[in-house]
Order: sequence, then structure tokens, then C-alpha cells
Amino acid sequence: MSYQPLTRTQRLKSLFPDAPAFRIRQAEAALFTDATGWENVTVFPKAMRETLEREVPWISVRQVRLLESNDGDTFKVVLKTEDDLLFETVLMANARDQWTVCVSSQVGCAMRCVFCATGAMGLKRSLTADEIVDQLRFWRLFLAGRPALAQRISNVVFMGMGEPLANVESVKSAIRTWIDCTDIGPTHITVSTVGVIPALEKILTDPDWPSVRIAISLHSAVQDEREKIVPSTVPQFIDKLAEWCHRYRQVLGNRRHHLTFEYTLIAGVNDGEDQAEILGRYLEKCGSPKLNVIPLNPVSGKNFLASQQDRIDRFKAAILRHGIDVMQRRTMGNDIAAACGQLAIGEQAHEV
Ligand code: SAH
Repeated sequence: MSYQPLTRTQRLKSLFPDAPAFRIRQAEAALFTDATGWENVTVFPKAMRETLEREVPWISVRQVRLLESNDGDTFKVVLKTEDDLLFETVLMANARDQWTVCVSSQVGCAMRCVFCATGAMGLKRSLTADEIVDQLRFWRLFLAGRPALAQRISNVVFMGMGEPLANVESVKSAIRTWIDCTDIGPTHITVSTVGVIPALEKILTDPDWPSVRIAISLHSAVQDEREKIVPSTVPQFIDKLAEWCHRYRQVLGNRRHHLTFEYTLIAGVNDGEDQAEILGRYLEKCGSPKLNVIPLNPVSGKNFLASQQDRIDRFKAAILRHGIDVMQRRTMGNDIAAACGQLAIGEQAHEV
């Protein structure tokens, strides 16, 4: 991978090579307190605070543009990295009157799913752990500045730009920081993946993999149909994924409920009752994970259309007959291009 800025931990370690591990943990914890810069982190000696203030950025991202949806329940921000790359993160109201943050793991994406705006950008680079961590910090600071809004962020989903399992180490490190430094528990964090088989395999034997929820973007249970809409699909993906699900259950059995499949419904492409029937049987074979159906969100320059609601209803009914728990995801932030698959840097209305 090309250039990546140094992380705070890397800078700290090179500035203070003899610093004990607890100093690193204190620095990390300080990021989630009321401190507004290293100068306020009084657990550190004054000289150390001064060096940090000079050498280590307090936050790794800068706000470029903030957008609010018409109904006020979705916000999107364009952030800029130290090397001037732009990416997006979204804040959405959830059913419990709390907030869900949707984070990006990469600037752009190499997967090129045909219906996704981010895929059309290509990959610029993976985000560092700090740049992932700081998306949550950005929204915490944002809410603190808007006391009239609910304050609690209860969930984080990796459903922004990028493929998290193509950037596993930084994703893992960011999740670890959030779990250690906030009240967000691992089951309130969801990693959504296109299904990178070798990375999924590694999770099964990785003692450091946090017990987060995993969502697999399936979009078709028919191998050659999936290859057409998700070009990163490897040969025998459908079979390999079913086998993986079995092993996931064996290894992390008590976490059966942690697995969800996502299925974006595209009119005339993957929304037929015949496809639903194949999918229903396939899900049973995979140990009956939950299914989230996502009506396609329009993406400019793409010819795909969303399925009509009656077709979606028939699709869901066919899945239900297989005893699968199926949910239709509510679309949010459409008017600010903040909905699934719409994240790409462009000009939008309703700047706030
Ligand atoms: N790379 C990860 C995260 C992507 S975004 C993944 O593939 O899971 C999260 C979800 O939005 C994925 O299921 C993705 O396929 C879906 N998505 C992408 N473009 C979409 C669109 N235009 N409409 C609806 N869902 C879309």
C-alpha cells in the first residue's frame, strides 16, 4: 500500500522510546475525555505535554463540509486527511433515540461493485487506525456542540467507504480503541464486508479478533449472477461462504446471532421470486443467518433502479417461508447522498 500517515501511537513511541505501555493507554484514553488538546492531558508531565502538542496531531482529520438531511435525522461530513484526501462518515438517528455512526475504512474502494458510488472512485488508500478512530471522535465533538440533540452514540457500523477486510489491522486496532475507551460494546459494532474469503478465514483463528457482528454483502446466491454485480467474487464463492459459515458457527458458536447477510435489491437483476427461493435455501444451508434487504439507493451515472415495494414484499415473504429472519433496511440521508452506496465526494445541497 502507498503512503500512510504515521499514527499517534507510532509517533508517541518514536518520541518517547522508553515510555511504558500505560502511557500509550493514557494517551488513547485522553482522546475520549473532555480534553481539547494534549496541553489539557494533565496525567502527563508538562514537558511531555509540550512535545506531544508540537509533534502529535490531536485529531487526524479535518472537517471540509457538513450536510444535514431535511428531516434532521442524518448528518454527513466530508473529512480531509493530513495528505489532503477526502472521505465521508455519517451519523444516523436509530430506533432507540440514540445515534449510529457509519464509518469508512478506506478512501475509495477497490471492489468496484457495479451499483456502488464508492466502487466507481477506485481505491486511493486505506485509512489509518487513527483516521478510523477519529470519525467517532468527530461525531462525539459534533454532538457536544449541539446540546439539543440526543448525545449518546450507541452503535458503529463499517458501512461507509471501503472494504474493511482489505484493511483488517487498522480496523481491528480502531475497534479495540473504541471498546477500551468508550461505552460501546463489541456487539454494538458491525463490520460489513463484501466477503474477502482469506480474511474471513483468518478471523476464525485470530485471538485478537473482537466479538463484533459481521455482515456479509451477498446480493445474489447464484455464483455467476453475483460475479456480474460484485466483480471481486472469487470462483466458488457461494460454496466457500457456506462452508465458512459452518466453521464460524463451530468456532464462535455462541455468536450465531452475530452473522447477518446483506442483499441490495436491484429491479430486474436480483429481486425475482426465483432468486428469493434460491437465496432462502442457501441461507438455510448457511445456518440461517439474518437477512437485511436494502432497496437500491440511486447512484448517479448508474442505470440500476430500485425494486418496487410490492416486489420487495414478495421477495421478503419467500425468504420468510424458509424460516429466515428478514429485515428491510430503512433508507436514510438520501437527500444528502449519505445512504448506503452513495458515498463519493460530490457537490450536495443543504450545507450546514
Ligand atoms: N465494503 C463493505 C461496506 C460497503 S457499504 C461491504 O461490501 O459490505 C454497506 C452496504 O451497502 C453493502 O452491503 C453494499 O453492498 C451496500 N450498497 C452499496 N451500494 C449500494 C446502493 N447503491 N444501494 C444500496 N445498497 C448499497
